[in-house]
Amino acid sequence: MPAYDADNIFAKIIAGDIPSHKVYEDEDTLAFMDVMPQSRGHTLVIPKSGSRNLIDADPEVLSDLIQKVQIVAHAVNRALSPDGMVVKQFNETPAGQTVFHLHFHIIPVFEGQPMGRHADGEMADQDELAALAEEIRAAFE
Ligand code: AMP
Repeated sequence: MPAYDADNIFAKIIAGDIPSHKVYEDEDTLAFMDVMPQSRGHTLVIPKSGSRNLIDADPEVLSDLIQKVQIVAHAVNRALSPDGMVVKQFNETPAGQTVFHLHFHIIPVFEGQPMGRHADGEMADQDELAALAEEIRAAFE
């Protein structure tokens, strides 16, 4: 597996070089809206430290991150009351990974609404993403 390359879009979001609709941030973690959401409220949770994916991640980073995934999932759940939720994570291109900085997807599922395709290139409306991020931010306890 190739080494982590800091020239990726999520590293740029962490550095503040490109914008994102943030829902959660602490010393080690960032969560923000996916710009090509597979459902309303699709959120990404990433560690600030660099690894390509789960395979090369530091176990300590990973164990902290999955707890943050749960914290963010609770907020998404409170904010949007989905009927279910998919949490997923891809490792390398053949598995579907498109951004090579470790991240977990939190994808709310609403009964009767089919989930969109993964990274299909269709950008969500920025105002809609901003409003969703605000709703989710307000749901942290
Ligand atoms: P993966 O294919 O698991 O690597 O997922 C990468 C995800 O990042 C996809 O769901 C994309 O829609 C999403 N994505 C790509 N660029 C951005 C961005 N600038 N801000 C937020 N999400 C992004």
